[in-house]
Amino acid sequence: MEHYPKSIQELIRNLAKLPGVGEKTAERLAMHILRRPVKEAEMLADSIRMVKQKVQLCQQCFGLSDGPQCHVCMNSGRDSSVVCVVEQPADMIAIEKSGAFSGLYHILGGTLAPMEGVGPEDLRIRELFERIERDGVQELILATGTSVEGESTAAYLVRELSARPVRLTRIASGVPVGGDLKYVDKMTLKCALDGRHAL
Ligand SMILES: [Zn+2]
Repeated sequence: MEHYPKSIQELIRNLAKLPGVGEKTAERLAMHILRRPVKEAEMLADSIRMVKQKVQLCQQCFGLSDGPQCHVCMNSGRDSSVVCVVEQPADMIAIEKSGAFSGLYHILGGTLAPMEGVGPEDLRIRELFERIERDGVQELILATGTSVEGESTAAYLVRELSARPVRLTRIASGVPVGGDLKYVDKMTLKCALDGRHAL
């Protein structure tokens, strides 16, 4: 590292902070960036700056969005009576990639984890309840992960929502126990959604 000029060392250090990028890969990427035209390097820098400036959470589903509402919520072709409840934006992306779902989403922003001090008020549960009332949601698909936290979050929602006139379903098995939706392949996700069962 110390053989490089300071500015390159700095770039390598910053690239190496990315997940899955060790120092060797960071060095290779830095050298690649150096070799490419100025324009290309600027585009990379600009797009990094852009996502930090532009990306916000959708006001309705809390998914990733370039504006107040995401493209899924704004799409009038989606079935707004079915809402799929997931932990994180990455889970929504994974389900979208599977192409198996045509409803809307609600991103909780995590799972209940009492041991770590994460309670219902730390997730977007109140917003979910408000949405059910306001938007006349008829079915909630609980698609939190199959980890202990994911299961207990789903169980909590079932308890809290049992008195409301909304059909509750849980994604079917196929998602491995402890599974994180974003690592599940498209076909498995499609089967899990299609085979969801009533709670
Ligand atoms: Zn949205």
